[in-house]
Amino acid sequence: CWRNLRGFCRRNGLLTLSVIAVVTGCTLGFMLRGTELSTQAKIYFSFPGELLMRMLKMLILPLITSSLMSGLSSMESKACCRMGVLTVTYYLWTTFIAVVVGIVLVLIIKPGTGTEMDSNRLGGGPVMTSADALLDLISSAPVPSSNLLTLLLQYKTDLIPILRVPTKTIQPNFVYVVPDDNDPKGRTVYLELTPPPDVIYKTSPGSSQQMNVLGIVIFSATMGLLLGRMGERGAPLVNVCQCINECVMKIINAAVWYFPFGIIFLVAGKILDMQDPSTLGKKLGWYGVTVLTGLFVHGLVLLPLFYFLLTRKNPFSYIRGLLQALVIALATSSSSATLPITMKCLLENCHVDRQIARFVLPVGATINMDGTALYEAVAAIFIAQVNDYELDLGQLVTISITATAASIGAAGIPQAGLVTMVIVLTSVGLPPDDITLIVAIDWILDRFRTMINVLGDALAAGIIAHLCRKDFPLSEAGKVKNSRWIYYVPMTELH
Ligand code: ASP
Repeated sequence: CWRNLRGFCRRNGLLTLSVIAVVTGCTLGFMLRGTELSTQAKIYFSFPGELLMRMLKMLILPLITSSLMSGLSSMESKACCRMGVLTVTYYLWTTFIAVVVGIVLVLIIKPGTGTEMDSNRLGGGPVMTSADALLDLISSAPVPSSNLLTLLLQYKTDLIPILRVPTKTIQPNFVYVVPDDNDPKGRTVYLELTPPPDVIYKTSPGSSQQMNVLGIVIFSATMGLLLGRMGERGAPLVNVCQCINECVMKIINAAVWYFPFGIIFLVAGKILDMQDPSTLGKKLGWYGVTVLTGLFVHGLVLLPLFYFLLTRKNPFSYIRGLLQALVIALATSSSSATLPITMKCLLENCHVDRQIARFVLPVGATINMDGTALYEAVAAIFIAQVNDYELDLGQLVTISITATAASIGAAGIPQAGLVTMVIVLTSVGLPPDDITLIVAIDWILDRFRTMINVLGDALAAGIIAHLCRKDFPLSEAGKVKNSRWIYYVPMTELH
């Protein structure tokens, strides 16, 4: 057994280093909790972790645009349409199943019932600083009405990435255009990929630093489809996208060696910041157990079962290829930031067809969040139980629908699910302020649900690749490493 483990570690050096980094980060974080670090020292301490997050975020935009544009441009419309319909159907179906798993578990375990009365804050104790900022954001956010269509429209205006521009002189653009504050005459213009906070995704924490990923996906997919139809005239741009895509993958291959170092500080920084676990109450503990059990059942039983039933292949050897992405998801709490590594794992370890991975993953990272959906349903019912609020069958159905919708609306960033949960709570008349009840342990649950979100996208890519294998006869060639010719042949020559 020891020899097997040594062999596995040697073959998966990077993965082993990342796991060691998570353990080291936890140890370091707990050791430093006893010491009084100044804010300045904490900032220096978090710097290597912040660098890791920035590296990953830097890669999201070129990866999504180049993947979708080059991937979709070389597909036939019928194959494209079939793949799109299968992907979206599978995503919606598995998200709904995740919600049902969550509802069944929370109704059986009943974590919110009992005599422990501490409705202000379960378990008492001060809430961690980052949660304070999050709560500010939630309370300043407009509380949405309970009409589902209104909610979807409100949360999904960023489907179309033409945005308000903060100056009269500049036209709306795909890339956000902002004037230079230091140049009152407005002669200098910077291109900025992050729209101002009041425009994009109003209730998302840290939205000022987030891209409109969904808008980018829609824009790039449309461009990709049209480029494919343009034949030779579109070929130069397709080639540019393919080159960018290859460069991004090379950057990822180099950057991954920095990740273990960054992970140590990312994890340690978070542990330094967290609330003392001994102050958490029993109900909150059971709530955590319920969410984790649900994630475990969905991620390690149901999703692999779907994978096996639909592909007749061993899901666990497929999941083994994804371990690196899962560790990064655990460390970053962001499925969007993990996207570059998920793509790398799918292409290099799981040998999923490039064209399919390039479509299914970016779309999944934006709309498919099984872990988030499950957690939102559990949290809403837990809050109802704490308030002795009886939910009837109609309200449970409402929760299942709104939790699915809210997870689709959540961005792939840390603790986004906590914010979109306002939708679920208001839809059944629960007070949105009661999010404060669960905020203390949300940061840790967020890490695990992000892992399931990433796992769901990656398993979906394997399933869709299998179901669409007749539409992509070249996909077998994807198994050959460095099969670069596949994506350098322009569409017109293929025909
Ligand atoms: N952090 C999650 C993700 O990035 C979203 C959430 O549930 O808060 O997938």
